[in-house]
Amino acid sequence: MPDKARPRILVVDPSASNRALICDCLRQLPDVFTIATGDSEQALRIFKETWPSLVLLDTTQHGTDGIALTRKIRTWEQSRNETGISPWTPIVFLSSANDEYTLTQGIQAGGDDFLYKPVSEVVLLAKAQAMLRISTRQQEICDVHRQLKEIASLDSLTGIPNRRYFEDMLSIEWKRCLRNDMPLSVVISDVDYFKQFNDIYGHQAGDVCLKAVADSLSESLFRVEDTVARYGGEEFVAILPGTDADGAYAVAERMRQSARDLGIPHERGIGGRLSCSFGVASTCPSADKLPQQLLRTADLGLYAAKHAGRNRVALNREPVP
Ligand code: GH3
Ligand code: MG
Ligand code: MG
Repeated sequence: MPDKARPRILVVDPSASNRALICDCLRQLPDVFTIATGDSEQALRIFKETWPSLVLLDTTQHGTDGIALTRKIRTWEQSRNETGISPWTPIVFLSSANDEYTLTQGIQAGGDDFLYKPVSEVVLLAKAQAMLRISTRQQEICDVHRQLKEIASLDSLTGIPNRRYFEDMLSIEWKRCLRNDMPLSVVISDVDYFKQFNDIYGHQAGDVCLKAVADSLSESLFRVEDTVARYGGEEFVAILPGTDADGAYAVAERMRQSARDLGIPHERGIGGRLSCSFGVASTCPSADKLPQQLLRTADLGLYAAKHAGRNRVALNREPVP
């Protein structure tokens, strides 16, 4: 596997001597790593494994079709659109036929430029440099975009996922559980007497407390597919895919105990310590139900837990219509 920090150029040409000539020439560029093949199936495999910075592709291959390969590369790149922005590797065609029809076909398939053989070393190097520059910028844009997406999905005070992320996840997990015929549970929690906590100890202490509670709730979830997010204010919500009502009740009880075990003093709190209340709801998603109903059911459970004296978990088995 080539070093991903170095520019990687994939050369696809059926002629071994052409490949050697092109690679020798490209190696004059600083740090460049070349990979060469004459076979388009193998080229696609190498592309997926090494994710090159630039592809130089012969369009006049026998038994292979550079334009079809370009389409496959572009389709694969589209499928890698994990954060809302697809990668784009520059593809430059090397063609011995100077015909406008092939050029148009190539560009429409997703190519970026055409060079006609024989190509002078100077032109090949200059074009490769220009394309590598674009490739680097493209990579930077993808990296920054990914970082921004991450930041946008986190709550700035507690560092755990925010409500927007939770809503996206709830919709994703709802569909996944529906497809796989699995239960889905949610747990809503709310810090008890938190207004009074702020009034007594100040807002800054309140913020520190919320961060500690968020951490303790996160640490109470053991499965990778479970998520806890800050729903707003002093409310948190967890999604537990594949967990039934009794399992979710047990998780909520663990969360409750974990927040309680922080031992944060609260002179107006229950037993002089900070506590949280929890509402739990569970369902098997189906086409005639909505995820919002599940949330609302859990919220009614939370209301019941508050009403029953706080610092407790209430499982609401009554789904709201
Ligand atoms: P209950 O036991 O019924 O939940 O009572 P409560 O006092 O917790 O509920 P209430 O909704 O009356 O008060 C919530 C408080 O949470 C009020 C608000 O100032 C505080 N709060 C919400 N967000 C933040 C925050 O980001 N930082 C701090 N310090 N306080 C917050
Ligand atoms: Mg509240
Ligand atoms: Mg509260």
